[in-house]
Amino acid sequence: MVHPKEERTLVLLKPDAIQRALMGEIIRRYERLGLKLVGLKMVVPTEAQVEGHYTLDPNWRRITGEKTIKSYRERGLTPPSEDPHEITAKILKNLIKYLTAGPVIAMVWQGAHSVELVRKITGGTEPRSSPVGTIRGDFVPDSYVMSDNDDRAVRNLIHASGTVDEASMEIPHWFHAKELIDYKVTHEDILYAKELQGIFTS
Ligand code: ADP
Ligand code: MG
Repeated sequence: MVHPKEERTLVLLKPDAIQRALMGEIIRRYERLGLKLVGLKMVVPTEAQVEGHYTLDPNWRRITGEKTIKSYRERGLTPPSEDPHEITAKILKNLIKYLTAGPVIAMVWQGAHSVELVRKITGGTEPRSSPVGTIRGDFVPDSYVMSDNDDRAVRNLIHASGTVDEASMEIPHWFHAKELIDYKVTHEDILYAKELQGIFTS
């Protein structure tokens, strides 16, 4: 079995994160948890690259559509369509515009439970309802109400893989294997070693 510390997740800093000068702040939050950065690059994605990214999981269209219908109902509103695929087609068009609007930073973070923990630190899809302390909750006021009104994607600064399976498809979509670096950081001994040894000098 692969040790949990080998788990990797993809993070994209979307164009608004770069424009808001938040890259250092965001990286700091993942880094201080003890995660290790194993890949990093700045890219201007093509439309095909963004569409490819969001449709890697054949269920993404249905799940995102269903999630959106649910969020309308929770707000006491009637969804624009009952068909999840129809709803997602519009979201995808707007997402392509959003992610190609400026440079993006792609990163791969490695560490125990990295997929789940990066999502926890990042917060939920809608910044307005993301808890205080999460990146989306702390740094951006966007909401479904505003994005619907302006017919655009929710501006939430970050993409983070939703599941380990998603991460395993998304990482090779953005990085060649040789762009990911295997290396050690010393604090991994404190995080993961079975015994805490070698702290006292005598
Ligand atoms: P997450 O990024 O939290 O995993 P999804 O995978 O459901 O969210 O959706 C991808 C991205 O599409 C979101 O980060 C957001 O920018 C945008 N988005 C999702 N749902 C909506 C929606 N109902 N209205 C506008 N934009 C949306
Ligand atoms: Mg997602």
